[in-house]
Amino acid sequence: MTQAKGKKPLIVMKFGGTSVGDGERMRRAAEIVRERAEAETVVVVSAMGGVTDMLIRAAQEASLGDREHWKSVRQELAKRHREVADQLLPAGEQATVLPRLAEQVETFEHLCSGFSLVREVTPRAMDTLASLGELMSAALMAGILRAQGSPAEAVDATELIVTDDNFGNATPLFAETNAKTRQRHAALRRRGVIPVVTGFRGATQDGTCTTLGRGGSDYSATIIGAALDADEVWIWTDVDGVMTADPRLVPTAHIIPEISYREAIELSFFGAKVLHPKTIQPVMKQKIPVWIKNTFNPSCPGTKIGPSTTNGQPGVKAITSVSKAGLITVSGKDTMSFARLAAKVFGSLSLDDIPTLMVTQSSADNVLCFAVHDADLPTVKAKLEKAFELEMLHDYVAALEVMSHVAIVVAIGENMKGTAGLAGRAFGALGRRGINIIAIAQGSSELSISFAVKSSETKEAVRAIHEEFKL
Ligand code: ADP
Ligand code: ASP
Ligand code: MG
Repeated sequence: MTQAKGKKPLIVMKFGGTSVGDGERMRRAAEIVRERAEAETVVVVSAMGGVTDMLIRAAQEASLGDREHWKSVRQELAKRHREVADQLLPAGEQATVLPRLAEQVETFEHLCSGFSLVREVTPRAMDTLASLGELMSAALMAGILRAQGSPAEAVDATELIVTDDNFGNATPLFAETNAKTRQRHAALRRRGVIPVVTGFRGATQDGTCTTLGRGGSDYSATIIGAALDADEVWIWTDVDGVMTADPRLVPTAHIIPEISYREAIELSFFGAKVLHPKTIQPVMKQKIPVWIKNTFNPSCPGTKIGPSTTNGQPGVKAITSVSKAGLITVSGKDTMSFARLAAKVFGSLSLDDIPTLMVTQSSADNVLCFAVHDADLPTVKAKLEKAFELEMLHDYVAALEVMSHVAIVVAIGENMKGTAGLAGRAFGALGRRGINIIAIAQGSSELSISFAVKSSETKEAVRAIHEEFKL
């Protein structure tokens, strides 16, 4: 995007759970925001690290009838946020922020008490509860910025991001979202106020709270960045940038200075937790760069994610993996064409938008094999059994096999296209370590090659390919 002369650039800065994990970290995050005095900022915050997990677990326990667990979570929730307020906010700010924190703790109490009485938690109620942490961290962060001398205001994203009613994994309605976000931002901007927006949350058209899926605050940042036609989106996290592999699996992984939108989408779809899988989508059209930066090492430039990269090095750029997946193999008989078999399989999955991680086939043998996330396996199996009930009865479909405890290991690189022998090298690297490849698929865009291996061999397989390509 182009910068009008004399106008300050606009940066949306998102701080993840670890980056706002305690008082000291929040103080540092606020300083990072204030250091960018040459830019106008919109801040997006996640809940303090671990809070979302704690809230979800409390709701689940309450719905099982446990009346004690959520009471201890209530204390913990109040204590963690109160400690930050005590540490960083002067009395005047405490008077503003503490009632807001108390309000969220009260909502938590009411909801959990209700769940334990009715022994149920609906997806709709879960979203309201699971995203309370963002309301609390945004209230604190705005208070800290004000205490440091910068006018700031906490903004509930339910007033900005309009979504469908797919609770737990809602999709934004961009036209409404853009209009609301721009309007609210313009009003705050006129008063010179930094908005501190709750990540993760959105609301349906009738105002019911939704969430954008686990890790969704990254997505909140780019939705807002696109709505405001921001110059850049900066995602502050706990690693120096996007790395050649998950550093928890490969200690020798290193930072990639620049990756393309397509590479980032592929990486996040295949499990690289550093980005929510939908993060890149909103900013692609406007070509807004997204930077991944480390709050614990702010002088490191981080990774730039943009429309294309300047270093078009051939070959593999990064390795990622989904360690909990399952493979489904459907074998048809001669009496059923492969096209009909495939149409029926994917037709039955399409209604629920179940993501498919890889697909391989043998048209001659009428065999279709595909991978899905472990969590989707029971649903997929049930749907296929229903879809093929008659065919199984009349023996048109010979078998429906399910294999769980599978991992999908993926090598990614925009310039793998046209580089001969990459799959062979990966094959060789896995073979030398005695890792059996259950299935292999190359993305038709030639941006990725996927290998299905046993779950227990995920780490070994990722390391083998990482080493082979000297990443
Ligand atoms: P935040 O709370 O800031 O959103 P996340 O925990 O969601 O942070 O994402 C950051 C983590 O993603 C890192 O700590 C790292 O362990 C993990 N990760 C997985 N794959 C990669 C990768 N390829 N590059 C960088 N980090 C990765
Ligand atoms: N707090 C939410 C989660 O833990 C959203 C986020 O951190 O991005 O999933
Ligand atoms: Mg995250």
